[in-house]
Amino acid sequence: MIFIFSAPSGSGKSTLVNYLLQEFPNLEFSVSATSRKPRGQEKDGVEYYFKTPQEFRRLIDNNELVEFEEVYPDLFYGTLKSEIERIQKKGNHVVFDVDVKGGRKLEQIFGDEALSIFIAPPSVEELRKRLVKRGTDTPEMIDKRVGKAAEEMQDAKYFDKIILNDDLEKAKQELQQTVLQHLNKK
Ligand code: ADP
Ligand code: 5GP
Repeated sequence: MIFIFSAPSGSGKSTLVNYLLQEFPNLEFSVSATSRKPRGQEKDGVEYYFKTPQEFRRLIDNNELVEFEEVYPDLFYGTLKSEIERIQKKGNHVVFDVDVKGGRKLEQIFGDEALSIFIAPPSVEELRKRLVKRGTDTPEMIDKRVGKAAEEMQDAKYFDKIILNDDLEKAKQELQQTVLQHLNKK
């Protein structure tokens, strides 16, 4: 099965996805490729495969990506075919953390196999506060991320499930139940 997570940056998507991966050992994270630089403690092959713009271009040209987006100007992110194959070969369920456009594309590709989940922040102001507190982005990058949020929120309606991440513990419980329900369906 496929789980697709999308959200405006700062909503708490990574926090919730990491919680889920701890709770369900047979769910596995599909590590995307990106042309952005690592931030904080990020390691190559863990959060992302970090690529130069030239290397990223080669992935596109060699048809190694299922989808890719220029999520922010000059910053590319893409889903690797090899990751999906690697995870499915082990018999695990695939977890995608992608932007809203990428999420909609993956939903089209995987159809009924996929459950798409949108993580919503309580407000755009709270989103900014969280990004500032996280302390991993420059003020310019925070502006870019927040600037996209209102538009991204408009697309929440296309997802199978919307989880509001206001109280983190509540959001974790809701997420756990949603995933359990989906796993028990098949
Ligand atoms: P995203 O992956 O969506 O960009 P993160 O998971 O990195 O977001 O979360 C952004 C910041 O907000 C992190 O510092 C995280 O610890 C914090 N955070 C996550 N969920 C909540 C919440 N419910 N309340 C307050 N802070 C939160
Ligand atoms: P960040 O820079 O915060 O890690 O990610 C920025 C945005 O890019 C997030 O919304 C994240 O979900 C998205 N993203 C990460 N990997 C992919 C991917 O493979 N494809 C697409 N379309 N978006 C991605």
